[in-house]
Amino acid sequence: MRIGRTLPPAAAPITIKDILSGIKGALKKDQAVERFRSQLKAYFQVRHCYLLSSGKAALTMILQALKKIHPEKDEVLIPAFTCYSVPSAIVRAGLKVGLCDIDPQTLDFDYEQLPSRLSDQRLLCVLLTHLFGLPADVGRVKKLLESQPMTIVEDAAQALGASHNGSKLGTMGDVGFFSLGRGKALSTIEGGIIITNDDRLAAVLDELVDRVPHYKWWETAVLFLYAVALLIFLHPLLFWIPKAMPFLKLGETVFDPDFKIRRMGGFQAGLAREWQTKIEKLQARRGASARYWEKKLPATVATPLSMFSGHPAVIRFPVQAGSAMQALELTNQGERMGLGISATYPAAIHEVAQVRRRFRLHDFPAASAAARQLVTLPVHGFVNYRDRKKIMKLLSLVR
Ligand SMILES: *Cc1c(COP(=O)(O)O)cnc(C)c1O
Repeated sequence: MRIGRTLPPAAAPITIKDILSGIKGALKKDQAVERFRSQLKAYFQVRHCYLLSSGKAALTMILQALKKIHPEKDEVLIPAFTCYSVPSAIVRAGLKVGLCDIDPQTLDFDYEQLPSRLSDQRLLCVLLTHLFGLPADVGRVKKLLESQPMTIVEDAAQALGASHNGSKLGTMGDVGFFSLGRGKALSTIEGGIIITNDDRLAAVLDELVDRVPHYKWWETAVLFLYAVALLIFLHPLLFWIPKAMPFLKLGETVFDPDFKIRRMGGFQAGLAREWQTKIEKLQARRGASARYWEKKLPATVATPLSMFSGHPAVIRFPVQAGSAMQALELTNQGERMGLGISATYPAAIHEVAQVRRRFRLHDFPAASAAARQLVTLPVHGFVNYRDRKKIMKLLSLVR
């Protein structure tokens, strides 16, 4: 266990001012939630927006709505390397997980494999993921689906406020969702956003979301305590304390379809006040670090970012170690030195025991390799010059 300066892998800090506006929001709940919703609609230029308790709650509602519209279809196609919340939400919605391998260069779908996977008649929808904020190629999937219409869901959980070639991520498919959880582009402790211009889908979502319970007062109290804890402990000088508490399971990602689904409360909507300015500031700082990594990365270390033009807004900077051993070495050394270098998902989706047991899935080698070899460097505003130098030194030692 490390005692002393420790960087989190990702961070969107919460201020005292945020917490105060959170309290105001909790007192004037309807007004705060409505304000946030109308700001989001204007920002994304969409007709429909729903606010929920998490990204996985948002995805569950989307899938339940699609299932009502297309009751004869029951499978959701997702990349085999993604957050475990995604298969959790699919199972929660009573649907089946379908997988396609990824392209290790972009972390998007493997487009050699995708066409054959899309031909499955049972597919309800295909879900693209802007992992870490790297834009997935929605246009390419749209083209593939020209002769065979199917709903495109955009998992922009990690990409709130990011855009690519002039389009905001989350707005290019039929429906998109975002997460406001810890470690995302912007955090309200927990929260989820759905946006869509599809009126038919929205009519069903209206009905479904209307039946979702509100937070109980004590659940809001827990969120408040969490916000105060984050305000204090996210700072590098104190972050080692929560990190040393194994019961907090910081940074752990688990498959668990049994999560709570609520409508976003006034406290969270209040916390999100000034979100546009805040995201811009966060992005500027993340962008500066990301450009540093892009420029200084030793030739022995590859990054998916090199495949994209125009510096995509990432919340963590993904790098591909040459082997699983190297990745382990990087994360272990980084951990020892408190540098916020982090592994991503411990295994590909088909390797998660509970998923494998439920569905018959084959192997997806690129996804498996990514789980073993991909690590992320921190880009948030707490990363200082000396951290960068130390991380560079570690990277140069690995080969
Ligand atoms: C975090 C995340 C989710 C789920 O969001 P929660 O708010 O944590 O439920 C879904 N997809 C991806 C890619 C994520 O990173």
